Amino acid sequence: MGTGDTPIVNEADTDRPGLGAQGDYFLVTSTFSALGLSESVLRALSDANYETPTPIQAQAIPPLLDGKDLLGVAQTGTGKTAAFVLPLLQTLAEDRRHLVPRVARALILAPTRELANQIADSVKTYGRHSGLRHTVVMGGVSQRMQAKAMQRGVDILIATPGRLLDLVEQRRVDLRRAQHLVLDEADRMLDMGFIRDVRKIIGELPDTRQSMLFSATMPRDVARLAEDILTDPVRVEIAAKTVAVDRIDQRVYHADGRGKRTLLTSLLEDSALASVIVFTRTKRGADRLSKQIAATGVLSVAIHGDKTQGAREKALDSFRKGRSRVLVATDIVSRGIDVDDVSHVINYDLPRDAESYVHRIGRTARAGASGVAISFCDPSERDFLRDIERLLKRSLTVVGDAPQPANQDRPAPGKRQDSKYRGSKPHGSKPHGSKSQGPKRRPQEGSPAGKKPGGRPNRRRRRAA
Ligand code: AMP
Repeated sequence: MGTGDTPIVNEADTDRPGLGAQGDYFLVTSTFSALGLSESVLRALSDANYETPTPIQAQAIPPLLDGKDLLGVAQTGTGKTAAFVLPLLQTLAEDRRHLVPRVARALILAPTRELANQIADSVKTYGRHSGLRHTVVMGGVSQRMQAKAMQRGVDILIATPGRLLDLVEQRRVDLRRAQHLVLDEADRMLDMGFIRDVRKIIGELPDTRQSMLFSATMPRDVARLAEDILTDPVRVEIAAKTVAVDRIDQRVYHADGRGKRTLLTSLLEDSALASVIVFTRTKRGADRLSKQIAATGVLSVAIHGDKTQGAREKALDSFRKGRSRVLVATDIVSRGIDVDDVSHVINYDLPRDAESYVHRIGRTARAGASGVAISFCDPSERDFLRDIERLLKRSLTVVGDAPQPANQDRPAPGKRQDSKYRGSKPHGSKPHGSKSQGPKRRPQEGSPAGKKPGGRPNRRRRRAA
């Protein structure tokens, strides 16, 4: 886990696990059992080889077991999923009930299908000895099967908002008896335009429920939502963002459209780029770029919001298992991607908002490792770069300008030429220019690229420079 350096540990002596002398909750233990977790949950944690609670787990689990509401400011990678899933499993198991058709006893709402699936995996892992029933309701897969799974009722329902609302409106899912609500990645949910759906869904739940809201950031609309749905919440804040950023070697190349492609091809010739996530702004751009990468003999797959669920999982699986060396992704999935061994993140297009940059580069340097983030910046993206540098409170290292593409079919520059970039002197960036409007949105389903040889060369963590 990558949160060990967050300075929130407070080794106080108390006579009640997890509860401070003033009734405040804070970290008092370095073991799961001292947090008050039950034997079946502890056994599952031991099966998963979890030894120590992460800070958010240590702070969130005791108040949640006490039935408190919680506001968690934390992002993926902090162990936040277990922080809400473990107490949920325990509370539901202790108050075991007969399932009622179509009724969910607890609801976990997630913005993306990837995240919903990951949460479901966690529920399965942590709940393996708890004997509870869960299911997932989300877009992109057959609604019929999901409605069928809900016929018997479930203890825990994990859902994305759009599909859940459809099923609620068709009366195939009944939320009127749900006693626990989790909103995960609330800021993402709102960014994606789910606020009305989310409010409608919450309106279905009884007022006398336990609610938890997790968000990586706390913009005003998320704070307002939190105020509306939480009652006297315990607030837990984990500064994972700065921790991750500090461990990442961040560089920028100034390059324009075609220059970016040549540069990427050139960089990928270095085997130190063993497992690379490349971010593009558009879904179409992701498909196109992935095919172009594959055409150079490097195995690459694309993942974005227009892919079917099956295609997304296949792409992610291929990347996780090292069959594909490159995963080309859009922001929509940047927070849902849970892969521990990403050596490099490349921002082929700079994101329009600086916080997305932090989320993107946070895909590397996970699980305590260091990582490298390389950004390509064309003249129209200089404002974005300036925003990023303002957020980070420092300039990114400019490594060099991109090679000039003499013609498109020219073979990519070899290693010798690549070393030219490495050797070039860093100099300060001078951000100017106007915001790019970017290509118009046009969803397109792309086939996973990469039929040629050239998979991930090795998984060793060598740095490109
Ligand atoms: P999350 O922030 O919930 O997405 O978790 C990030 C990763 O950390 C996941 O792969 C979890 O399996 C892992 N994890 C969560 N809690 C612990 C823990 N206490 N010890 C070891 N790994 C953990």
